[in-house]
Amino acid sequence: MSRVLVIGCGGVASVAIQKCCQADTVFTELCIASRTKEKCDALALKLEGKTKTVITTAKVDADDVNQLIQLINNYKPDLVMNIALPYQDLTIMDACLACGVNYMDTANYEPEDTDDPKWRAIYEKRCKEAGFSAYFDYSWQWAYRKKFEEAGLTALLGCGFDPGVTQAYCAYALKHEFDQIDTIDILDCNGGDHGYAFATNFNPEINLREVSAPGSYWENGHWVEIPPMAIKREYDFDQVGDKDMYLLHHEEIESLAQTIPGVKRIRFFMTFGQSYLDHMRCLEDVGMLSTTPINYNGQEIVPIQFLKALLPDPASLGPRTKGKTNIGCIFTGVKDGKDKTYYIYNVCDHQECYKEVGSQAISYTTGVPAMCGALMMLTGKWIRPGVYTVEEFDPDPFLEALDKYGLPRSENHDPELVD
Ligand code: NDP
Repeated sequence: MSRVLVIGCGGVASVAIQKCCQADTVFTELCIASRTKEKCDALALKLEGKTKTVITTAKVDADDVNQLIQLINNYKPDLVMNIALPYQDLTIMDACLACGVNYMDTANYEPEDTDDPKWRAIYEKRCKEAGFSAYFDYSWQWAYRKKFEEAGLTALLGCGFDPGVTQAYCAYALKHEFDQIDTIDILDCNGGDHGYAFATNFNPEINLREVSAPGSYWENGHWVEIPPMAIKREYDFDQVGDKDMYLLHHEEIESLAQTIPGVKRIRFFMTFGQSYLDHMRCLEDVGMLSTTPINYNGQEIVPIQFLKALLPDPASLGPRTKGKTNIGCIFTGVKDGKDKTYYIYNVCDHQECYKEVGSQAISYTTGVPAMCGALMMLTGKWIRPGVYTVEEFDPDPFLEALDKYGLPRSENHDPELVD
């Protein structure tokens, strides 16, 4: 029996909400609140008669802490699931603290305006001290640790697939497969084809920022930063086949470097086709990925937001996308004095996801873990005052929930390694 407030009603939230409604003995009441209330109403209507979960909807601007506080105080949820954008992480955390409610999200904080001088000064200091230049990092949300501890509240950060499930895979490997993990390679392969020359699988602004940034990895206690897409490898993915993949900076490396004792190297690779990379380079060269507003015919326009308006809505890719995703982690390390390797991953079929929830696998592989993370919190398995990432909790019940709710794990004890 629980009341949950979901903020956001985009691609990921719509999957998470539908999956919450499949577990209607736990998610008994749910309020869907977002900037565009019509989207919340449409989803509530789609679910009518298909679940026992009692659904209400609300309009909220999650950039406004006061609006959030009013909504939370009115609805009185046990948990707030932030599935809006990373820009809203801090305002929603503030509102949860003010109202005494547990919090979770699927991606770590980054500012909408990266030219804001106040943010920029802190960012530039962090780049020098930490050694990586991504706009997003955990420092902003880790700064809330003491506040959540003192309030007796839990904040669960980054509970999608990557970040999220990938960290649970690391915790699982450490618990069951290794005495010491030496290296972790996180491999994110999307073998899906939507038939467009160029489209992003989730929010274009967030996606394009992520992949146009310098890559970086963790090695021997420090970050190594490289130019965007400078390290390329080929890998033969189970049920997908050979794909080119590129080393990217990714947020879970930052927390895993602290939580996996003695780990020597952590890298993250994502697959991209040549057409995607050519389009992205061109858009970047002409300034379309910029977040700095320009004045066009008397109107202020942010180039990347204008581009978002031109690109296909990621939610519309569902019916067109065919193929599979394969996301997981390859480990090397030691067990009982012997060297060993281990690969744990999930394969997810775009069309199967579409048949079940009307979304492609990228939203599905993020929305299901968000729901399973909420399930862990609501059933008391992942409740501990403070601010935590997924690998800091027991991976076993979470992976069991993922097996049950649509993202079963596969294992390989003799995987091909990435050089
Ligand atoms: P979408 O753009 O599809 O959806 C975002 C939703 O948030 C929309 O409903 C939007 O409303 C709403 N929203 C945006 N700003 C506000 C605001 N100020 N107040 C209230 N609502 C707001 O994004 P996705 O569903 O693709 O992504 C959701 C989250 O999941 C993101 O944080 C993303 O980074 C993360 N993600 C995590 C992954 C992982 O594996 N961990 C993978 C993929 C995504 P409106 O409809 O009005 O625009």
